[in-house]
Amino acid sequence: MRYSNSEKIYEKAVKIIPGGVNSPVRAFKSVDKTYPIFVNRGKGSKIYDEDGNEYIDYICSWGPLILGHNNERVLKGVREAIELGSSFGLPTKMEVELAELVCKCYPSMDMIRFTTSGTEATMAAVRVARAFTNRNKILKFEGCYHGHSDSLLVSSGSGLLTDGYQDSNGITEGVLKDTLVAPFGNIQKVKEILETKEVACLIMEPVPANMGLINSSKEFLQAMRDICDETGTLLIFDEVISGFRVALGGAQEYYGITPDITTLGKIIGGGYPVGAFGGKKEIMDMIAPVGRVYHAGTLSGNPVAVRAGFEMVSHLLENRETLYKELEEKVIYMTDSIEKIAKKYDVPIKINKLGSLFTIFFSDLDEITDLEHVINSNTTHYSIYFNTLLDNGVVAPPSKYEAHFVSVAHTKEDLDRTLEVIDMAFKKIGE
Ligand code: PLP
Repeated sequence: MRYSNSEKIYEKAVKIIPGGVNSPVRAFKSVDKTYPIFVNRGKGSKIYDEDGNEYIDYICSWGPLILGHNNERVLKGVREAIELGSSFGLPTKMEVELAELVCKCYPSMDMIRFTTSGTEATMAAVRVARAFTNRNKILKFEGCYHGHSDSLLVSSGSGLLTDGYQDSNGITEGVLKDTLVAPFGNIQKVKEILETKEVACLIMEPVPANMGLINSSKEFLQAMRDICDETGTLLIFDEVISGFRVALGGAQEYYGITPDITTLGKIIGGGYPVGAFGGKKEIMDMIAPVGRVYHAGTLSGNPVAVRAGFEMVSHLLENRETLYKELEEKVIYMTDSIEKIAKKYDVPIKINKLGSLFTIFFSDLDEITDLEHVINSNTTHYSIYFNTLLDNGVVAPPSKYEAHFVSVAHTKEDLDRTLEVIDMAFKKIGE
């Protein structure tokens, strides 16, 4: 592969954009690259870089492209919306239609508010939880990522873990002291913290996917629901990754546990900038202009983005019977085959998978259940895996702390080609 155009663009980028990227994981730093590929376009399961290289893509814009790049139905909707105007700063009918559609898929949401990103959704959800409970503190789990608002950048996952730290600088001590943290899966610790009755909400990824994919369970989520009920704490499920991926109705449908507030992100914009938070009417009624919890946004519910989301969610709803089963079958085919290849070359791995998501951990542990396990997994092996794939036309997540995303557009041929390349990677690792 030639990467010279990407390299040239990076040389310019790094002078004008910190690290040359607008979101840190994109820099490819933790997989030993000096510069990333710069993407020119995408179609179906593939992306193409500025050097003309073609790649089978397992990032899928970090989740939303469950139908693949530039899906025809989404594209048609976007084209029609663009013709009508870019943004009005006034309400449009399509916002209401997408709101109805999303609430139909998530019965825990009586009402919903759109934002422009997942970060804004979780930030607003925490604010409304504080107002509703009249409490200041919040609880989150170690290694879970909920976007980059101040109160949620504590013991965080995703890009922070990738770069080897978990708490951002630039956040006041006052904010930090109000964010409490527990290890994922530790029911006793959650109980101790919430029994103080000082905590407004427990915000959690019901299936953590920002320290690699970590398996969750109905029993654990039920315990969280029960402790929140006993202590008057609101339970927020951050379904920015799991929403519409794990099942149409997200982890709450898959496990049958109902949160008080749900946050959703990029996937309900079909790849365009959208987020949302929603919940019971009495909670949502606290939001301005009905109540006095302020939330706003010039581009919240942007007409092009909500139209893309409407087409995407409509497609998922109409095809839910077959679509989720097929995605899961693809992931099972991939992960079973990867396990066989690992055995062939004696490479110790553990794969966590759910729905259309999976993470390969290079580790000899029997189970990967918490952050400590992930941190201790082999970074060098992950880097060899990533680089062998990249050099042979497959893009895996550029960090061992992220999940692979499979889409409807990935064909059997794509999966088989990917497995051939994974064979090459594991052979190198095993040597
Ligand atoms: N919550 C979770 C679970 C996420 O994975 C992310 C981003 O990946 C966010 C929130 C933040 O979303 P955004 O990047 O759209 O701000």
